[in-house]
Amino acid sequence: MIGSGTLPDTTEQADLREMVREIIERGAPPQRVRELDDANAFDLELYRALGEAGLIGLDAQADGTSGADPRLQIIVLEELAAGPTSMAVCLVVQYMGVGLLTEYGSDQQRSTVLAPLLDGSERVAFALTEPDGGTDVARVMRTRAKKSDGGRWVLNGAKTWISGPQHARNLIVLARTSTPESSPIDGITMFVVPTDTPGITVRELDTFAIHSLDTCEVTFDNVEIDASAVLGHVDQGFRQVLGTLNGERLNAAAAALGIARGALEAAVDYGRQRQVFGRPVGSFQAGQHRLVDGAIAIESARALMLQAAEATATGKRADILSAMAKVAASDAAVAVTDAGMRLMGGSGFSKEYPMERLFRDARLYTFAPLTNEMLRNHIGEKYLGLPRSF
Ligand SMILES: Cc1cc2nc3c(=O)[nH]c(=O)nc-3n(C[C@H](O)[C@H](O)[C@H](O)COP(=O)(O)OP(=O)(O)OC[C@H]3O[C@@H](n4cnc5c(N)ncnc54)[C@H](O)[C@@H]3O)c2cc1C
Repeated sequence: MIGSGTLPDTTEQADLREMVREIIERGAPPQRVRELDDANAFDLELYRALGEAGLIGLDAQADGTSGADPRLQIIVLEELAAGPTSMAVCLVVQYMGVGLLTEYGSDQQRSTVLAPLLDGSERVAFALTEPDGGTDVARVMRTRAKKSDGGRWVLNGAKTWISGPQHARNLIVLARTSTPESSPIDGITMFVVPTDTPGITVRELDTFAIHSLDTCEVTFDNVEIDASAVLGHVDQGFRQVLGTLNGERLNAAAAALGIARGALEAAVDYGRQRQVFGRPVGSFQAGQHRLVDGAIAIESARALMLQAAEATATGKRADILSAMAKVAASDAAVAVTDAGMRLMGGSGFSKEYPMERLFRDARLYTFAPLTNEMLRNHIGEKYLGLPRSF
């Protein structure tokens, strides 16, 4: 690996990184990643291997007594994103599910939904974004759940751009349950709903990238769910999610960082081998400097990410650092994949090399789970102390 020796991993972290690399080497070599990307297919075998190795649960417990260590999650995500990137995106969602169910799940939800999630036998999808908007989703949320006379809930509405619902056993769905005057983020409830509940329709969307994980529209047509499907507290769902978004941003940073590193490795490899004017193309200063800038962007993002992970793990304030890490890592991923495409000339366009896929996949984390513009708004307000810009 380029930059070897610069990683400040502890022994436990280094062992974990090595384990993930071995699983990828065995189960997801570049040719397989490419074939599955071309076929828009999910790598169930790889997911099972990750589950069997304990990498979905890490140290989270199904009884909710302990959550997962963010310092370990980011290692798994970085390594996956550098290779089978779509699997990293899948795990960002699974880790979000683990966090929400560990913190808010009832005993029943922990045994029926969290336990099979931790051992990798089932997956969840997280459905928040709606057709009318993702950034301002609380204000525009049209998905509603109404309580029937029998105490059951009836869910109607639509979610869009949802990762992985085709193969997920359960959906975590946010729906408006009341319209209090206090704030649009109040009056929203989280539900855990099996994807095969009558009235749920999942339609795959044709997207630009992350082809080995389905991105879908999910519609709810008079979907009847039990009162026990509420995750956490009625009307408090959005606030509960806000509490876990810090972890999701941190994990998005790790995935973006992995994409950037994977692209840098591919570019350096190509730059050493390809001869132009009788010299390796990586020896020309114009291209080499772009890659060096990429390396600096990666290590700067890593420093922010590690600080954010440490703050999260030790219960310190982490929202600003996580936001900075996510912006820095996703900007690095865009810059490095661009530099890689330039260095590789026509080969960058070819599917023979991973660069064109990484170039596409890198775009996701510029706007998901929250756009970099909104994260900059957050940093402007919370770090700089400037008036709210939106
Ligand atoms: C492949 C993929 C997977 C996804 N997976 C999931 C998932 O699993 N679950 C889920 O719930 N969602 C998911 N999403 C949705 C994603 O979180 C949203 O796309 C994202 O939050 C942005 O919302 P939007 O697309 O509606 O953009 P909009 O909210 O319409 O924003 C459009 C533009 O306006 C800008 N903008 C908006 N408000 C402001 C402001 N105040 N200041 C400055 N700029 C602003 C935004 O930054 C952006 O550039 C996924 C999306 C994709 C494409």
